[in-house]
Amino acid sequence: MIINTSRYITARKCWRMAFNETHRRLAEGKAWALIDGGSVHAGIATGLASGNWDEAKRDALAEFDKSQENNPFQAFEFQVVDEHRTLVEAMIELYAREYDGTGWIVLQPELEFTYEIPGTLHDCIFVPDSGLYSPDFKEQQKIADSILEGRWKPAKTELKPHYLTGKCDAIVQQDGNIWLFEHKTTSIMNEGFWSQWLMDIQPRAYLWAIWKMLGIMPKGFVLNAIFKPTERQLAQWNAKRRGADVKSAEDYLKFESRKYLCSEAEIMSVERKFKWLGDEWEGRIKSGIFPLADLRTTCFSYNRPCAFTNMCTSVSGEHLVEDPNSYDHCDLRELDYVTKRLYHIEEAEKQEAEREEDSGTF
Ligand code: SF4
Repeated sequence: MIINTSRYITARKCWRMAFNETHRRLAEGKAWALIDGGSVHAGIATGLASGNWDEAKRDALAEFDKSQENNPFQAFEFQVVDEHRTLVEAMIELYAREYDGTGWIVLQPELEFTYEIPGTLHDCIFVPDSGLYSPDFKEQQKIADSILEGRWKPAKTELKPHYLTGKCDAIVQQDGNIWLFEHKTTSIMNEGFWSQWLMDIQPRAYLWAIWKMLGIMPKGFVLNAIFKPTERQLAQWNAKRRGADVKSAEDYLKFESRKYLCSEAEIMSVERKFKWLGDEWEGRIKSGIFPLADLRTTCFSYNRPCAFTNMCTSVSGEHLVEDPNSYDHCDLRELDYVTKRLYHIEEAEKQEAEREEDSGTF
């Protein structure tokens, strides 16, 4: 199977959530934080690659506009859309100011990777012809239903390894050491934000991939964070100003950067975790065990219910979505980028086999 950090984190949180997202291909509506963050990432990638921060702003805004093409809220949220567009521009300007003169040498901006996890060859059901990836919604539902009941049998399996896939923000160098560069936008402005990265799997997974691909172990990762207030924080802070000029989100933007050293043992533990996840996930499909979470904090975290709560608390007993439009928070997706990479691997393997065949004929 192809694993990324988000599949790992979701499955560790709740297997039913992982099932809904991967096998029913349902997703929460995209939050503004993700749209802003994605646009800023696209802009920073251009800035780091070219050193041209005007171009970076253009790319960030182009990414933002693209994200709005299918935004169902656009028609009645014009002002909000404009505010977020301005915020994205301001975040790129702030990043450019802070990055200028830091002396980092960018070896590779934005690196997409799909890397084989060693020692994981197995009879894999995550192959294009297994029947798991039907584009037809009704067909998908039948497959989802039969997986949960332990009835689904793959049409085809193949001897394959598990793969880890992902996209690093950049690989940089300073004083002869290689570092992973990651950027985050966040509204949490305290140690709670920084301490979570002491153990987070995402940067460690990227460090593992860089190490495997380049054969050089990076020293650790550098986290560049742009703090931006939520609409609620902004309203509360402005309310406290009592008559003084109200401030905009741009006025509260802040930048901070910290380095995290990582040991070889820490990075290697990632490989074992992903191997476990791949084996466990395929085992769960074969046996049909994708239980509902039993932790209150998972179904209702930060006082917000999980997007799938309606489905999971349905009394029909089926826990299935009959019609994609009947479920507000879900939107039926085509294959996600992780699954699409499966087809890239297939294509690359086919080309490789053809090349070998051709060279054998001469
Ligand atoms: S509502 Fe709870 S059990 Fe259902 S998908 Fe969400 S976290 Fe999992």
